[in-house]
Amino acid sequence: MKKLLVVTLCIYFTFLGCNVNKDVSSKLEKSDALVDYFADNGFGNAVALVQHPSGVYHKGITYIAYQGSLEDPYVASYNHETKEWKGPFKAGVSEMGKDPNRKKKIDNHGKPALLIDDADYIHIAFGGHGGMRKHGENPLGNHAYGKNLHVVSKKPLDISAWETQDNISLFGTYSQFIKMDNGDMYLFYRHGAHRSDWVYQKSTDNGATFQEPVSFLKHKRRTEVEAEDSWYPWVSRGNGDEIIVAFDYHICRDKKNPQDTRGHIPERHNVYYMVFDTKTGAWKNVKNERLKMPLTKEIADENTLVKNIANDWTFQGVTDVDSNGNPQVIMLVGPDVGERRSGPKRIQHFRWDGQAWVKSLTDNLPRGDGDLEVKSAKEVSIYLESKNNKNVGEISRWDSFDGGASFKKSKVFLRRKKSGFVISSLIENPHPDARIIVAEKKKGTDYRKMYLLGDNGPIKRNVKEAEVLKN
Ligand code: ZN
Repeated sequence: MKKLLVVTLCIYFTFLGCNVNKDVSSKLEKSDALVDYFADNGFGNAVALVQHPSGVYHKGITYIAYQGSLEDPYVASYNHETKEWKGPFKAGVSEMGKDPNRKKKIDNHGKPALLIDDADYIHIAFGGHGGMRKHGENPLGNHAYGKNLHVVSKKPLDISAWETQDNISLFGTYSQFIKMDNGDMYLFYRHGAHRSDWVYQKSTDNGATFQEPVSFLKHKRRTEVEAEDSWYPWVSRGNGDEIIVAFDYHICRDKKNPQDTRGHIPERHNVYYMVFDTKTGAWKNVKNERLKMPLTKEIADENTLVKNIANDWTFQGVTDVDSNGNPQVIMLVGPDVGERRSGPKRIQHFRWDGQAWVKSLTDNLPRGDGDLEVKSAKEVSIYLESKNNKNVGEISRWDSFDGGASFKKSKVFLRRKKSGFVISSLIENPHPDARIIVAEKKKGTDYRKMYLLGDNGPIKRNVKEAEVLKN
């Protein structure tokens, strides 16, 4: 009873106190308060798995790139020792996101990929969706929009000033940057719109110059159906000199048939995997057999298939290897629901056991995008975004200790009501406090709060610094 009285009095005085000091305390809170996002000017799908890396940890600092206001690339950094945030600074100007008359207001294809070269200059590739007719003939495919650009920081590890370089193909889209141990830089991208080859350009001088684009996935006319072969790869570092690729196939149908009300749809199938040995220039399948490049649908089906998925649709493969070079692949898989938009998809996990691809039997992973971290053949984590049926968005990590046979949710990094999230790929060489970048989607606005998440949740920032749109 006595206890109850004390509690009641406490609540009463707290209530009084709140009333009396309301103005003062809220002012204090506003100026000093920490928020769990670092910027509020993310725009559209501000980050994604495909354009990557979006973040790199280097010499004590995490560098982050994302699509901000007007689809321009923004860069921020966080010093893990001093706890100091910098930016976001606008790193360049995209040709997309500026035309109010364009039917598709936010294009989203030109999100930035970020790389730090061996001389500590920071590189961003962004702004492309295949180029436009005004840019001239695309020798490796077709056009859509935008112009792929390459910008470099004016000073080493300084994100405040940038210079545009005219040394990559403007027809690029879905930029993916990789640096090898010897400093060689590779920029992978699709050389145009859907009906285009996927290529890479290599630089051996810290991005001052790039060699001509080299095709590795070939777009090709089909003969038995009115369609073209098209591809969606996700490219990453393997072990040593190797680059690894997970990909799926897009049957890019013609829109000619008036009876076919669906016309062109984002129909994607199958899971594939291959390896690029950058030392020899040879491409190989998982069995170490040499592939004839650029890869056609026929060669891919015969030599590089992880899983044939003919009925369900696929989306966004990701891959990683263990120290023995045995890869694991995840792919979103789900039914085609009969509309232009495809149905909900769930991650499927595949592991090469040295002899064959083993498909995980787990069916408890939530629907949503994810990235994969392979620590060993047995120990695997998936970082993913998901949304439950109560409209609660969540970023979580799911661990497996049996090579992907089963997964268990081990950690929730962020959870928000009435929100959904889009996620980046895992940050390159990450500090444990900063593993992934996410943008929070809310109804009624195209702007996104941006979060940097690690093992301790979001890295906080002063509210005044984080409110970029007001400043
Ligand atoms: Zn298409």
